[in-house]
Amino acid sequence: MNLGILGGGQLGMMLCQTASKLGINTFIYTDSNDSPAINFSNSYLVKNYDDFKEIDNFIKGCDIITYEFENIPFTTLDYINKKLEVHPSPNINLVIQDRLTEKKYVNQLGIPTVPFVEIKSSDEISKLPNNYFPGILKTRKMGYDGKGQTVIEDPNQIQNVNNDQYILEKKIDLKKEISVIGVRYLDGTLFTYQPIQNIHQNQILYKSSSPAQIDPKIYNQSIKWSEKIIESMEYVGVICFEYFIDKNEELFLNEIAPRVHNSGHLTIESYNVSQFESHIRAVCNLPKVEPQLINHSEMYNILGEEIEIYRKRSNFLTNEYFHDYHKKQPKSGRKMGHLTKLISS
Ligand code: ADP
Ligand code: MG
Repeated sequence: MNLGILGGGQLGMMLCQTASKLGINTFIYTDSNDSPAINFSNSYLVKNYDDFKEIDNFIKGCDIITYEFENIPFTTLDYINKKLEVHPSPNINLVIQDRLTEKKYVNQLGIPTVPFVEIKSSDEISKLPNNYFPGILKTRKMGYDGKGQTVIEDPNQIQNVNNDQYILEKKIDLKKEISVIGVRYLDGTLFTYQPIQNIHQNQILYKSSSPAQIDPKIYNQSIKWSEKIIESMEYVGVICFEYFIDKNEELFLNEIAPRVHNSGHLTIESYNVSQFESHIRAVCNLPKVEPQLINHSEMYNILGEEIEIYRKRSNFLTNEYFHDYHKKQPKSGRKMGHLTKLISS
């Protein structure tokens, strides 16, 4: 079976590494030469996402298509889906790639987010009630690792809102952040991994640990809400939900990633089935495996130049697993690799 993957980052790389163990061929379509996944795929194309002639060539080489990056243009996903099945469905991606439609979608299911408001001009910010401040102005689309976000202390702070594609969200006092990874198969079977605890530095994930040290009420609530969203979308594949827990132990949904997720890298070594394997099993309709935690673990992201220290290291312990994404340019803040440590519980 040939699995086509749109996007060529480290998530695609780990999907390719897993696919080869399952006897599945991978075909990567990416718009960048510095794409980790192309070194691990059976074939690849480096072309623009709106080059439909090349997209047609890609489709010819695939039996099923998925994506590892939610900002693939909807028109491309929709074009492909009319010729060959794309999982998860492009319509779901359309809702999730826009923070405004994403938040409205979960609110309508009765799941709370922190208070937010659509912003179309700087003027609108100055007229907002004080309870939105301090707030965070976020671009509706294309944001990741805190990109496109500005903290606004009060309504009078001058803002450079240059289009109508923003939301303003109340900045809350975070106690903890967690994520829940779920997988739904084509026949509707749904599994979740245990909640993972996440620590961010400069809005970029720094450390994840599994399982999260949280109150049983929060544990159950986060899984229940994640399942509700997955069911309502009739989602197929792996999906990740990021949650905030505030100082009053209130749970809020932060955002959804319609793909495998950075906080789930530790599932490679600490579960019987990784998030990457679950995704491939689900989208390719392979036999189902229920995720079971084998070992407690911690994962650390390796950013920018820090990767050189790890590349030179030869003294990893038997419980340490270093993953190098083999990116050529170690730009500051760029995710270059990660280290997972298995820990005794
Ligand atoms: P991204 O798409 O860049 O991951 P997020 O909305 O998840 O954007 O924000 C990144 C991080 O910034 C969050 O994980 C959290 O640590 C912090 N953050 C974002 N929004 C809020 C908020 N409303 N209140 C407090 N912290 C926030
Ligand atoms: Mg996030």
